[in-house]
Amino acid sequence: MLRDKVAVVTGASRGIGKAIALALGKEGVFVAVNYHKDQEGAEEVVKEIQAQGGQAIALQGDIRSAQEVEDLIQSTLSRWGRLDILVNNAGITKDALFLRMKEEDFDAVVSTNLKGAFHCLQQAGKIMMKQRSGKIITISSIVGVIGNRGQANYAAAKAGLIGLTKSAAKEFASRGITVNAIAPGFIETDMTDVLPDKIKTQLRSHIPLGRLGKPEEVAHLVTFLASDQADYITGQVFHIDGGMVMA
Ligand code: NAP
Repeated sequence: MLRDKVAVVTGASRGIGKAIALALGKEGVFVAVNYHKDQEGAEEVVKEIQAQGGQAIALQGDIRSAQEVEDLIQSTLSRWGRLDILVNNAGITKDALFLRMKEEDFDAVVSTNLKGAFHCLQQAGKIMMKQRSGKIITISSIVGVIGNRGQANYAAAKAGLIGLTKSAAKEFASRGITVNAIAPGFIETDMTDVLPDKIKTQLRSHIPLGRLGKPEEVAHLVTFLASDQADYITGQVFHIDGGMVMA
């Protein structure tokens, strides 16, 4: 059902983005594997997709830059001639307690996580509006729903993504484009690897399923939302967090 569709996955050199790129590639999607600094990681993802018989290219681009995002989308179009799926995945953290948070760290997190996704939605939206089809999936976070100590910048950016998703969903719906967000809880990647073991143990005690999630588990949900089976779902926020937040 996803065979021969074309996707851009931002921040796909590792972690959740990598798992998403691999899962889409496995379904026969042609994947533009975006990365910022980790060229080697992105090329490895491309090789893995090709080894499964799929098609992929690695495309460098800093999503904070409107121009670089335009180039990313245009390079994808030049390669495959269309764009069916955008996965806004790239993100960073720069944690600090609220009163100690530096303005530059607030700006860095908002400009990557929120403004970066805005650039991608705008560029991809233009193409998809003309095509009259498309699926946009944005990786927010459960922290954007409930907040978190030490992550005011990240929580604000991730909550912003929910507003961005719902607004774009309303504007794009008339052209058959769906826009949804996923709010993962704590997932095993480099981003959570830095947490001290004591914190990870505390975290597990707040997760009914008693463990952190796996990148592949998020990727399964993306694959579903990108498929025709999800045609009637738009403007939604899906929690994938082992039951941490039930609302
Ligand atoms: P990760 O392992 O740290 O990977 C981050 C990815 O984002 C990398 O591929 C990185 O590219 C890319 N990136 C960073 N800045 C970029 C920029 N300016 N332009 C383009 N790409 C950029 O993170 P992760 O844990 O997989 O998280 C992926 C997404 O899920 C993020 O949005 C994160 O906030 C969200 N999330 C994660 C968790 C979790 O527990 N892990 C939970 C909820 C939500 P390079 O390596 O090439 O620099």
